[in-house]
Amino acid sequence: MTNARFVPENELPLDIAPGAAVEAAYAAELARVEEALLARLPALVECDKELVPYFYAALRGRLKKRELRCAYLDGRPPADAPPEAIPTGVIGTMISQLRDAVRGPVGERVVVLPHLDLLVSSSGGGLTSEAREVIPLLYENPQVLWLGFKDPSFSVPKVIHDLFPHHEHILGVDRERLRHLVTQREARKLGRGFDPYELYKYVSGVNAVRLRRLLGALGGVDYPDDPRPAFAQLRRATLSSSFEMPDVDLDADVGGYDKVKTRLKNEILDILAAKSRLADEAAIKRIEALVPRGMIFWGPPGTGKTLFAKAMATALKAAIIVVSGPELKSKWVGESEENIRQVFLKARQSAPAIIVFDELDSIAAARGMYTGSGVEHSMVNQLLTEMDGFRKEELVFVVGTTNFVDSIDRALLRPGRFEFHLHIPYPDPADRRAILGIHDRKLGLALSERASDYAVKRTGDLVEGAAGRYSGDHIQALCRQIARTRLRAARPTAEPTEVADVEEALSAYLERPDLTKAEERVVATHEAGHAVCALFCEHAPAIDRISIRGDLAGALGFVQYADPAHRYVTTRAQLLDSICCLMGGREAEALLLDDLSIGSGHDLERATVIARALVEDLGMGGERTGVRRFARDITTSDATLHDVEKAAHAILEEQRTRAAKILTEQQALLATLRDLLLEKKVLDRAAFVDLLPESKRQKTHG
Ligand code: ADP
Repeated sequence: MTNARFVPENELPLDIAPGAAVEAAYAAELARVEEALLARLPALVECDKELVPYFYAALRGRLKKRELRCAYLDGRPPADAPPEAIPTGVIGTMISQLRDAVRGPVGERVVVLPHLDLLVSSSGGGLTSEAREVIPLLYENPQVLWLGFKDPSFSVPKVIHDLFPHHEHILGVDRERLRHLVTQREARKLGRGFDPYELYKYVSGVNAVRLRRLLGALGGVDYPDDPRPAFAQLRRATLSSSFEMPDVDLDADVGGYDKVKTRLKNEILDILAAKSRLADEAAIKRIEALVPRGMIFWGPPGTGKTLFAKAMATALKAAIIVVSGPELKSKWVGESEENIRQVFLKARQSAPAIIVFDELDSIAAARGMYTGSGVEHSMVNQLLTEMDGFRKEELVFVVGTTNFVDSIDRALLRPGRFEFHLHIPYPDPADRRAILGIHDRKLGLALSERASDYAVKRTGDLVEGAAGRYSGDHIQALCRQIARTRLRAARPTAEPTEVADVEEALSAYLERPDLTKAEERVVATHEAGHAVCALFCEHAPAIDRISIRGDLAGALGFVQYADPAHRYVTTRAQLLDSICCLMGGREAEALLLDDLSIGSGHDLERATVIARALVEDLGMGGERTGVRRFARDITTSDATLHDVEKAAHAILEEQRTRAAKILTEQQALLATLRDLLLEKKVLDRAAFVDLLPESKRQKTHG
């Protein structure tokens, strides 16, 4: 093999002691701390606790050669101390050692605090009593040369940070150093041909001492044909408990959204996969510079944004954590930033990992949209610090989800941060069919073809007068409802789910207003009016369904139209017919009930919008307004405005009269349709087609 990344086995060491591992992994860090101390600058090392004794031992060796001695205050009483002189507890002993060190002869030595975090950790509200005792001691004698150690999972107050001019952060092992930390025996357990870049993917967040322990514990045969179990063993050991390993296949488990999938594959997944195939380090680094650290999925709730993130994690063999933005923010002020820091820390230690910030806008709203508490501001800053802070080769990826990408703070959208955005809209019919297919399969619903067609249509968005739209989440809920009903009825597995079952599940799943008989009559009359006008307007689309059961949020009844055959070109005749149909509800009430309900408000609003557009924007308002576009601004004269309003009004009045005429002529049909609606509540096209005159039965698409 010519892959430059491979390290020949005989170049690997036979044995590595933990101390040597620390020297090999952290030579640069050790040198920097050594220099700082020699310059008499107190130094703070942030690293995992298990690293501390080894890092200290290596440092002590170096300092000894430079004639600098150390006093190590780890809370262990001196062997010769009389028992009554020993304060109780490790912390007590540490504090008393600290007091002696500060007040005794200072001399040319380094005072080492291996557990600085335990002495001064702050929890939530304020300082512990130990911290209140220790902080003044640390500041009492400026001559003392401190070397402090702190674990990254603890936070220490700023006043402690400020005591140390030199900071050193150690997390994991640099990818380039990894080859010095593996023995020949261990490499053999990972298969033939040792590739440190491959190993790095599983252990990037693990410190050298822990890494040595994990590698030493590797079981299995030498040169296995399949090294995956060995890698899996390492991976399990590095996973922190708040992370999970998702199992969501982008193609098999996420339905529809082909374009989104293609972009995701092309722009992120393929690049990352290509990276792991590349042989030469320079090329890998070039790619790493191109891959963003984060991306955003935006779109309405329940459309599968989190699901997509999980599928990405699965494809990358990464662990995932989903952090809720609102929850993060609701924590104590000041704790939110600490929480963000902790999430990133755990992600880096569990890398490869994906962090999902659900509802990212709640913690990082675009400027000008802040709610005023100032919490968001510091959270954005913390997020930026963390995202800019990790090394390019670290395998941490951040995903944000939001309803609108514009609601996110611009600073987060810059190159290298949440650079890449994917829109996930409501599912279109093909997406809905695919999503149904997935849940049908998972739940064993055996949907018949007609039932799927029906469900796809019923979950469509072409609903007169209502706003509720179906997302993947709703479709899943629908399928679960069908499954529950099937289970209750003990239906045999092979028996298909039919149209009626789908309809029943849809009804069970929605909350309906409870109409009185009189109210039902008004709604039925109104909807029958829309429907009859639609049947007798040549350019109106065909009707799929009429309902007075209040299926959708906000609407008591509705007429659902078939997909129009033309989506991109709309004609004047079609627009006029739409106005006529909109007027049909109101006119039917006037005709059959001799009264009007307030239910037509929305219809009138829409009709007016169309009429105005005809006059003002489309030059279709008639002779008086002519073929031109009207602007409504301060230069528009009252006379012009008057003409425009008059022309729009004329159109509305004309269509209202037309609707009234159709309904009067078809009054018998109108009444029959209304009665049928009152009886059945929901009418399919098949249910009312027989009522129609021959000439109207054929209409399928407008
Ligand atoms: P979001 O994050 O956009 O609010 P989720 O990812 O939490 O939505 O989706 C909720 C659930 O809806 C998912 O767990 C999944 O079961 C279902 N779902 C949504 N979209 C799809 C889809 N495209 N294919 C399959 N299931 C989906």
